[in-house]
Amino acid sequence: MKIALDVRDFGKYPFLKESQAFLSEYKIPLDELIRTDNGKIALNHAVSRIKRALSGHAGIVGSIASLSNDTGRVRIEIASYAFSRILVSCAKDRYLISRLTQFEADRAYLLLLEENDDIIEYVASRMGLTIEQNELQLIPYVEAAVQISLPKWRLVNRSVIRGMVKISNDEKIELIRAKILSFQRQNLHQAVPGSICEEILPFIADVIKEHQEKILEQFGSVDETSYPPCMMAIITAVTKGFNIPHTARFALTAFLHTIGLSLDGIIEVFSRAPDFSIEKTQYQVEHISGRSGYGTDYTPPLCATMQTYGICTNKDSLCEKVNHPLTYYKIKKKELIKKKGEKSGLRNVNPDSSPGKNTNEDDDSSDVTGTRSYKEGENDDTKT
Ligand code: SF4
Repeated sequence: MKIALDVRDFGKYPFLKESQAFLSEYKIPLDELIRTDNGKIALNHAVSRIKRALSGHAGIVGSIASLSNDTGRVRIEIASYAFSRILVSCAKDRYLISRLTQFEADRAYLLLLEENDDIIEYVASRMGLTIEQNELQLIPYVEAAVQISLPKWRLVNRSVIRGMVKISNDEKIELIRAKILSFQRQNLHQAVPGSICEEILPFIADVIKEHQEKILEQFGSVDETSYPPCMMAIITAVTKGFNIPHTARFALTAFLHTIGLSLDGIIEVFSRAPDFSIEKTQYQVEHISGRSGYGTDYTPPLCATMQTYGICTNKDSLCEKVNHPLTYYKIKKKELIKKKGEKSGLRNVNPDSSPGKNTNEDDDSSDVTGTRSYKEGENDDTKT
């Protein structure tokens, strides 16, 4: 396929090799760029990029036509992509990495929706998908479709003729998104020298602060009295020195991490065990909470999964209305705050009442996780 990307395309798809090569023409390595004025601008763009990822807003401001084709601005755009990867890698937070990974795939998807076939097929080919006349070979199809867990992508539901799988125009772009997602999962995180992380510490702090605020927006401050019975049972077992199974340790750590308990706070919970070992616990907690590396963002399992593990215990009446421990926590917390408000004679008390927060108190039908999505295929809606 003989098409040449223009400068603006490099900014649109900064993960492509040719876009990276375009940035390299700058002849300033990234570790030196961070000390320049343009580097600071790119770092600020990178922070905005991550904040948009945390908000779940991959949308481009305006249309493709409004994106710059100015060489300097495009280089800053590509550098901001590179810096955003560095920032989340330095932060060593699995959740941040996972949100940015999804953001980059969604952003490219939205841009591709406005492209002509030549550009779409070019980007597809760069992602290892050779699509011609809305057909592609079986193996590349399966490799991409496996990322999307919807029945329509299963091979049994496709038309396959002589080893070629038929796809529609819209599906073509969805498959490319799946390949970009897979590419980002493998490549977005990188090993960054500690000296570089040190230099950009204020930017990392800004990103982490935003992340913490998002958690607080969703769950408010941590309230142990609202923990679901399963989590309380695990904490009781830990406190009494029982040897709890890995599934329980995992569920509790992921739960505490998701509702915003600090690493020290999580370790404190496990320190109640008589056989507590700080090194072992720290290692496990860091692994599950994602602070030790990269990969999937861990959230606690669904109630159904907890039942399968045999750790759904002491169910109460609220348990009948939820299918996720996090949903239980959020509802219980709201109820308790409401009760406290009624007791003290206050009306319309809102648990998330700090400025700028969502004040839709009764909206329990919304995704309780907000920007934080549970593992693929897991849904925390309250039961109907
Ligand atoms: S139903 Fe869900 S929230 Fe309730 S105890 Fe079981 S796992 Fe926990």
